Amino acid sequence: MDNIQGQGFDLSPELLDQIQANIEEIIKSFPISESNKTDVIKKINFMYSQTRHMSVTDALTGLFNRRHFESTIEREFMRAKRYSSNLSIAVFDIDYFKKINDTYGHLCGDYVLKEIAYIALETFRKTDIIFRYGGEEFVVILTETPIDKAVIPLERFRKTIEDYPFFYDNNHLKVTVSVGVETLNPDIFTSSDLFGNADKALYHAKENGRNKVVTSSNF
Ligand code: GH3
Ligand code: MG
Ligand code: MG
Repeated sequence: MDNIQGQGFDLSPELLDQIQANIEEIIKSFPISESNKTDVIKKINFMYSQTRHMSVTDALTGLFNRRHFESTIEREFMRAKRYSSNLSIAVFDIDYFKKINDTYGHLCGDYVLKEIAYIALETFRKTDIIFRYGGEEFVVILTETPIDKAVIPLERFRKTIEDYPFFYDNNHLKVTVSVGVETLNPDIFTSSDLFGNADKALYHAKENGRNKVVTSSNF
């Protein structure tokens, strides 16, 4: 099984659920008192919930990880198709992030990633789901949100980053992000189409000056 960026947890949530169910069965068969069994099961449940949390969480930013994105996008896509509801997806990527690392060091880059994750959590609705997809690339699933309603918080987010006082080791940093967004429409048949189009829109944002929100219908 893959281990995202070497820092994710190595077991899928589904497999963890199976292991957990088996462990409970094994403990129930132990020749110990019922109250001891209950104690052991409680402790294991606690450890299990921590482990499960790790399996869907990116260690650096605390956002959901890529593995969780893969299963979530599939579920939200099916749901939106079935109920004909709106669904938008945004991909954003930090502009010239390599330069930040090269100039101020990797720890400074990590600081920027954490701040951006925090700003994203503050900016988007609680029903939106935010993931760290890869190094300096993030995805937001905006549930029940048509494109015009998605662009508003995305543009606000872009502007917030542009104006945000990033400060590390006595240095003020100028940070911007580029954003690509796509929304569910009749030409989209799979969740990969939806994500792929948002990614293409991100590419256009990069090609056309960065620090921009580009929707798939813009080109
Ligand atoms: P662009 O505007 O085209 O996106 O340019 P860029 O420099 O952001 O893109 P590029 O893909 O060339 O560089 C991405 C950099 O992200 C390279 C790598 O050093 C950095 N990076 C990836 N993951 C991490 C991380 O976890 N921490 C830190 N500090 N840097 C990371
Ligand atoms: Mg980048
Ligand atoms: Mg990138």
